Amino acid sequence: MKIVDIRATTVAVPLEAPLRHSNGAHWGRFVRTLVEVEADNGLVGLGEMGGGGESAEAAFRGLVPYLKGHDPFQLEALRFKIANPTASLYNNRTQLLAAVEFACLDLIGQHLGVPVHDLLGGRVRDAVPFASYLFFRYPGEGVEEIRTPEQLVRHARALKAEHGFTVHKLKGGVFPPDYELECYRALADALPGDRLRYDPNAVLSLAEGVRFGRAIEHLDNDYLEDPVFGLEGLRYVRDQVRVPLATNTVVVNFEQLAANVLRRGADVVLLDTTFWGGIRPCVKAAGVCETFQLGVAVHSSGELGVQLATMLHLGAVLPNLGYAADAHYHQLRDDVIMGGKLPYSGGRIAVPQGPGLGVRLDPERVARYAELYREQGGYPYDRDPGRPGWYAQVPNERFADPTISL
Ligand SMILES: [Mg+2]
Repeated sequence: MKIVDIRATTVAVPLEAPLRHSNGAHWGRFVRTLVEVEADNGLVGLGEMGGGGESAEAAFRGLVPYLKGHDPFQLEALRFKIANPTASLYNNRTQLLAAVEFACLDLIGQHLGVPVHDLLGGRVRDAVPFASYLFFRYPGEGVEEIRTPEQLVRHARALKAEHGFTVHKLKGGVFPPDYELECYRALADALPGDRLRYDPNAVLSLAEGVRFGRAIEHLDNDYLEDPVFGLEGLRYVRDQVRVPLATNTVVVNFEQLAANVLRRGADVVLLDTTFWGGIRPCVKAAGVCETFQLGVAVHSSGELGVQLATMLHLGAVLPNLGYAADAHYHQLRDDVIMGGKLPYSGGRIAVPQGPGLGVRLDPERVARYAELYREQGGYPYDRDPGRPGWYAQVPNERFADPTISL
């Protein structure tokens, strides 16, 4: 099998509402680049990439001369062909490599007639548990804003009733820490027996990180995710707080994983199939974590159905997956895959069983959302439409005002 072409299509798929986070917002839609890698036997492998609200089409087109004639089975060679560790200092292609790796695994699976999880050691579970992913948000068409503890609790209860979540993640770092603490406590009160996690995207000061951590020690926490920036910052908080710490920001490659093994700052490593450069590096990293008794979970950097499939195949094969996965998926109004959005059942999504990634693009949906991208364009992920001119500092001291309703 040989690669003959790579096509990339940028789509904008509506979210229920604009989602706020510590760096800015998702402005009411996800902009994602869909990748189709065509082989000489007529098979097409699928990949997907985010990119902070921007299209990555041109970057994928630039890979065609590198990969024309490449055998999709040669996954280790692929890494060195387009993203060797020193060349990458000049042309960081980790996220591009990830999308091409997804597509090559999809091609291999289709060629052999087996699902991707069978190429990764075989599944140890048939469905992957997910956490609800709770955001402060601006109002959207037919949905209310989420700003107050009451609105947040109402939203969490509705998601639990609809999808069966028993784990809830609050994306914070938007409002002052004391206000978000009040929101987190309201969730704990409203959802007894469920587990919680809080992620302010590393914008708290060390003092606030410790204060927040100590204030939630008695609650049913999975972990405190990136309360502060940096492995040294996490170590400082970890030394003083009796809640496990997790990160998806400062352990995203093997060098950083080694540093965290030698001197632990994070107890749980959140594996992102894009940030790590593919599904296979995540499986390798999970093996290192198993050896050194670090926890692992599946991270979400935003996804449509193709990326979600990579998260499901990853979650399926990790014996040491100790936590529910994250996904923005339930915030989407639609998907680009045949049949539309994959359903949750009991807080879980079934692992695709078809050949390869087990999902196929729906040409009609892709055309509709490519058109929406042409109409609306990208968006600046690191800006907040409700706070013109504002940008985040780390640690942040200019939080949004929770008394202001848009
Ligand atoms: Mg995070």
